[in-house]
Amino acid sequence: MERKNAWEKYQGADREKVFAFCEGYKEFLTKCKTERECAAWVVEAAKEKGYWDLHQVLASKKSLRPGDTVYATMMGKAVALFHLGEEPMETGMHILGAHIDSPRLDLKPNPLYEEGELALLDTHYYGGVKKYQWVAQPLALHGVIAKKDGSVVKVALGEDPAEPVLGVSDLLIHLASEQMKKAGSKVVEGEDLNLLAGSIPLDGEEKEPVKKQILKLLEKKYGMEEADFLSAELEAVPAGAARDYGLDAGMIIGYGQDDRVCAYSSLEAMLTLKNPAKTCVCLLVDKEEIGSVGATGMHSRFFENAVAEVMNCLGQYSELGVRRALANSKMLSSDVSAAFDPNYPSVMEKNNCAYFGRGLTFNKYTGRGGKSGSNDANAEYISRIRRIFEEKGICYQIAELGKVDAGGGGTIAYIMGNYGMDVIDSGIALQNMHAPYEVASKVDIYEAYLGYEAFLKEIS
Ligand code: MN
Ligand code: MN
Repeated sequence: MERKNAWEKYQGADREKVFAFCEGYKEFLTKCKTERECAAWVVEAAKEKGYWDLHQVLASKKSLRPGDTVYATMMGKAVALFHLGEEPMETGMHILGAHIDSPRLDLKPNPLYEEGELALLDTHYYGGVKKYQWVAQPLALHGVIAKKDGSVVKVALGEDPAEPVLGVSDLLIHLASEQMKKAGSKVVEGEDLNLLAGSIPLDGEEKEPVKKQILKLLEKKYGMEEADFLSAELEAVPAGAARDYGLDAGMIIGYGQDDRVCAYSSLEAMLTLKNPAKTCVCLLVDKEEIGSVGATGMHSRFFENAVAEVMNCLGQYSELGVRRALANSKMLSSDVSAAFDPNYPSVMEKNNCAYFGRGLTFNKYTGRGGKSGSNDANAEYISRIRRIFEEKGICYQIAELGKVDAGGGGTIAYIMGNYGMDVIDSGIALQNMHAPYEVASKVDIYEAYLGYEAFLKEIS
């Protein structure tokens, strides 16, 4: 089926709208490299628009009214923004969902050791990664150290060009004859992902002097001792800013676009709302990359509980009311899709794959093999979405991730589908998904933003 290139919509000065929106996105991507940093950004953006903290609303026993805006958070890693509609919540919500965790190298609980007069930090990778992609490049360390006294120190080391970075070494090609014969999954193995953290011995120390030097630096910079690694969450991520990509600057390269590209465009759409008829929600969750598990992942009761609390503050709470609110909702569950890559055409079926420049991608289903593990969006629901996008002239494409049996993937969509709501996978197509640097098309990001806004206002 013929679909025009979305750039054709934007001629001359009009193109500036696309580029200007993506400047904001690049800043978000550059500053938010962990789920916590993303959640904090979202809360700040919401507060600037007048959103209240649900915890404070509950503590002060305030009530809520239609038109109010309120946010709920979970452990600083998941956020739900609510813009309360005129209609009762049990008639259903319009929900934009995405995830804010991304693949990375997490420090182990006991990470620091010395070997060969070098100090190293042992890691355990998070999410699906090609491990060989994570070596021989500058990595920054982001996260928190929770000390025994209850204080929490934030860490973001290696982003300022004046600060040092860390990295995992790779084997020189000259000595790699055995390594180069290995399968891709074995070229670099999980236990090889150790960050080189230091090389200068501490004066006067005989035993592990380089490690002791690092501990001294950590003490000075973060007031931490070695045991504080036990209660830390430190993530090694690619260092540096998101950048324009391509000679025409039509794309963006940066870390963590899965799924922060959908999170940012959903957030921006959410913040444009004024007096919606139905309650609108932007739900940004953690742990999608490892199965949406735990208190901050989509399987958690976090969102359901937040809906119950909000309905209670509106004077609309009942057990049945909450169930109806969820079952009657409509959702775009946004997560990135795979963009056609001329370097790897063999994994794509050209009539049913996503292309850069064709706008927001919908996946009727995801999963692997015979669609196993997928949400499968209802045809009637898809027809309503098509109508909205076409009436508004917003570019979209409906695609599969790749060829049948080439692989597969899952999202949070089926978890929301369990409530009985209408939900479809949507999102922005990427090249290099899960690599340290992923690539997205600027016009797709902008069309997604317009599409999310139209969905919140128009879906019925
Ligand atoms: Mn992913
Ligand atoms: Mn994803």
